[in-house]
Amino acid sequence: MKTENLQKPLVLYLDDERNNLISFKAMFRLDFDIKLASSAEEALKMLSECEPHVIISDYRMPFVSGIEFFEKVKERYPKPLRVLLTAYGDMNALTEAINKGNIYRYIKKPWVEQEIRDVVRDGFEFYFTKNELAIRNKELVEAHKDLDRFVYSVSHDLRSPLMGILAISNLLSKSNNFNEIKEYTELISKNVGRLDEFIHNLLEYYKIKRGELTIKQIDFNELLATLAEMYESDAKSKNIHMTYEVEQDEEFNNDPLVIIVAIQNLISNAIKYQRENNPDKWIRIKAIVEGSLVRIVVEDNGIGIDPEYQPRIFEMFYRATAAAMGSGIGLYNAKHALDKLGAEIKVHSVLHEGTKFEIIIPSK
Ligand code: ADP
Repeated sequence: MKTENLQKPLVLYLDDERNNLISFKAMFRLDFDIKLASSAEEALKMLSECEPHVIISDYRMPFVSGIEFFEKVKERYPKPLRVLLTAYGDMNALTEAINKGNIYRYIKKPWVEQEIRDVVRDGFEFYFTKNELAIRNKELVEAHKDLDRFVYSVSHDLRSPLMGILAISNLLSKSNNFNEIKEYTELISKNVGRLDEFIHNLLEYYKIKRGELTIKQIDFNELLATLAEMYESDAKSKNIHMTYEVEQDEEFNNDPLVIIVAIQNLISNAIKYQRENNPDKWIRIKAIVEGSLVRIVVEDNGIGIDPEYQPRIFEMFYRATAAAMGSGIGLYNAKHALDKLGAEIKVHSVLHEGTKFEIIIPSK
């Protein structure tokens, strides 16, 4: 038996006849938790405050019928199971309500104690099965998205260093010059390093995904120095002046790998989306620890992002430009990783002037 089902079913019973309400409560108070309402309005108000597993309503009431009431309930509160109490003459309306899916079961009046018990118990079980199914479906959709992401990541982040290695090896095989050979070998080892880093990040990402955060004390001087070193040669080769600055007097704890994954994506974009003809290209990275938060800024004076596209750049596969190669996963990855930390990421960008990403992460 599922743990949720160890609790009692919460039943909302709506009937305009007070005597029925009283006898219902007297009869089932030990089996169910019960809420009573003598009008549809009162019942709707209760529904806005708590969610029962099962709602039982009388069909014949003075202002709205039980079916009309359930129509409203279905729209606003679709999760509870709806059970209608009807007398014999109401069969036509009942058939319609069943066909429209507005009720889960009906019970004929006068009701029999055991029938109410059985219907509520079934409804209670069904409530959990249905909701569990919805959770599993959501997880499945997420898993599919992940798989797509993986395929695109492989083509994007794994292929480009591989293609680089292939091109350099061709050059290498034709060269007799020692200095050239040395330079090519270094380039190959750099690309192999990028591949290794990618695989490492991928594994780390799946670790994050499974919820295994590794909280550690973070020294942002050390963290940004590592990142700056990682991107130094790439930035230099493109004439980009990259600087970083840290203000940290307090201790900060969180998962450094998740933070690194996010900043890496921002830096590689800042390198990628520079303006070709700009003589003074720069990237500024800042980390400021204030109280129990860190504010990390990655800013560039590159091509900027059209305001129309800005709201969509964190979506998977979304690309706002064809100015450089990309797959549209980087920022999705960054946001996904940061969500795990309860962090926030914002963008401020002016087209043809530059882009500033700001991340705010709480200490754990
Ligand atoms: P990719 O870079 O692979 O296309 P991302 O998810 O990393 O995918 O980024 C989504 C889009 O956001 C990019 O296609 C680009 O248009 C825009 N973008 C991201 N960072 C920057 C930046 N620093 N400057 C200009 N545009 C950017």
